[in-house]
Amino acid sequence: MRIIAVANQKGGVAKTTTCINLGASLAYHARRVLIIDMDPQAHSTLGLGFEPNELDRTVLNVLEPPRSPYHLELKEVIIPTRTPNLYLAPANIDLAGAEYRLIDKLGREDFLNSSIQRSNISFDYILIDCPPSLGILTVNALKACREVIVTIQPHYFAMKGIEEFMETMDLMRENLRHDPEIYVLITIADVRTNLYREVVEEVKKYFGDHLFETVIHRNIALAEATSHGVPVIEYEPSSSGAQSYLNLAKEVIKLEEKKSGERLLRRN
Ligand code: ADP
Ligand code: MG
Repeated sequence: MRIIAVANQKGGVAKTTTCINLGASLAYHARRVLIIDMDPQAHSTLGLGFEPNELDRTVLNVLEPPRSPYHLELKEVIIPTRTPNLYLAPANIDLAGAEYRLIDKLGREDFLNSSIQRSNISFDYILIDCPPSLGILTVNALKACREVIVTIQPHYFAMKGIEEFMETMDLMRENLRHDPEIYVLITIADVRTNLYREVVEEVKKYFGDHLFETVIHRNIALAEATSHGVPVIEYEPSSSGAQSYLNLAKEVIKLEEKKSGERLLRRN
């Protein structure tokens, strides 16, 4: 089971779009996929066609301490989406309360991780959609994952944001002894600009082959699909957005071989 958080403390850089469409594309390639919505704005939940306010079992229940009367196991909040192989642990605005409810709890960084470890669910992939902050919800997602995809939109201050994000990862490594692998995805790109080339070059220098070759260009079908509550491969399969996310899924799947090779090496 590969657990991947999609993160960046900046909003509007296609974290949610990537969770939904990478998730649906992995599902299309016959992988069983769970998306965990860790954002109180519930955009993944909305973008998969659910009305967040009508849901009474959400990720918030999973983050409640096990003794709380509101606590539920992860398995109990998972719902199937209309896309075969694609499942969702939904959120709604109540999740906003978790930021300060968890803040003084012992082991507060570990609630999501331990609920995933406890629940004997079997998925090939878990994708975690993070909120646009580096608060306790994001830290829970980062602690629960073994890989992170940082989405970057080529922008003047994109690299500055990445530095801040990497500082958080350094703190995690030092204080929580947790060190997931970090990959970068360039999103909402206008490739004709000089700025695009500059940012890609900088990211490449810093992340090397951990920068995905697939670039997600600006494509209106992606925005439209989300507003219709479906992944883009169902809304407009021939669009560049649909094709790009299918390519990204292939790249992510290719890493499966590398990862199982590494596991074998570690065992020997
Ligand atoms: P985040 O989750 O990082 O806040 P979103 O995935 O919600 O970002 O994307 C922000 C906005 O940009 C949304 O309106 C989304 O539909 C739109 N968007 C995302 N990716 C693309 C793209 N490749 N082309 C055009 N619009 C996009
Ligand atoms: Mg989002």
